[in-house]
Amino acid sequence: SKEKGGNVAQFFDDSMRYKFQDNLLIENALRLVVENGCGFEQYYQPKTQFGEVTSMEALIRWHHPDLGHVSPSAFIPIAEDIGLILQIDEWSLNQACRQNKKWQDEGIIEVPISVNISAKHFQQDYLIPMIESALLESGMEAKYLKLEITESVFIKDPNRVAEVIRQIKSLGVLISIDDFGKGYSSLSQLLLLPIDEIKIDRQFIQDIDQNDKKALLVKSIFDIANGLKINVVSEGVETENERALLVGIGKGEIQGYLYSRPLSKEGMEEFLCVQTGV
Ligand code: C2E
Ligand code: CA
Ligand code: CA
Ligand code: CA
Repeated sequence: SKEKGGNVAQFFDDSMRYKFQDNLLIENALRLVVENGCGFEQYYQPKTQFGEVTSMEALIRWHHPDLGHVSPSAFIPIAEDIGLILQIDEWSLNQACRQNKKWQDEGIIEVPISVNISAKHFQQDYLIPMIESALLESGMEAKYLKLEITESVFIKDPNRVAEVIRQIKSLGVLISIDDFGKGYSSLSQLLLLPIDEIKIDRQFIQDIDQNDKKALLVKSIFDIANGLKINVVSEGVETENERALLVGIGKGEIQGYLYSRPLSKEGMEEFLCVQTGV
């Protein structure tokens, strides 16, 4: 029922209008959650090597009374657009440090925890004080904190970003490049930075056992990273065949549904009990 005219309305077909309203709902609900300081939950996904948990990643979960479960892939980009991501990531960071310190104190596990940090933080001056405060407040040692950032941070002002990364490193905090290979940065540029880890994006891992080109590509990434003493994590490992092929390719950690989906705090504690046979 719309005419093609020169007006803006033609861009809003029904599906777009629906999506737009959806986003507005999420946006308003997000504002309330952030204001009230509750409504999020943190899940944890283990990373393993030789079947042992070597670290874990904190992943945010949001259950809204009316909207139901809203995936982070849906609300994180919105939060980035409306400027709420800074507070959300601050919540994730504080929560992860507190929980990991608690697990250490309780003798449950002593491994680094990874927290996803939006590229938006690299255009602000709050990141370093935010990290310092999370460490101070939780009492967790800096070496147990790893920040996962994506290549998209380098789009704007790569020199400034490199400087911020050096500052983070000087605190003793570790840096991981998430979704490695998905962006368009040059491999050499990325690997010249003082990074501790790369996480090979799931698209290169999926069905790697059935795709010689993927296997060759991933092998070359492993060779370079292993040579530079950069830790390699394979993301999204779902099958035993994928795992077996990756273990044959080089040294690194495995993360994915094959070992475990992201788990609640209680779920993780149960998982760890079963692992260690307690
Ligand atoms: P990511 O950091 O790349 O995290 C990996 C995503 O893949 C997670 O989705 C995880 O649940 C999922 N995953 C793990 N293993 C497998 C597997 O074997 N197969 C498949 N198909 N998927 C797997 P999730 O938890 O929905 O998170 C989506 C994205 O949201 C994350 O992608 C991350 O970019 C972002 N995110 C999550 N929590 C936070 C946060 O606290 N702050 C920020 N800025 N971003 C976050
Ligand atoms: Ca991540
Ligand atoms: Ca990832
Ligand atoms: Ca597969």
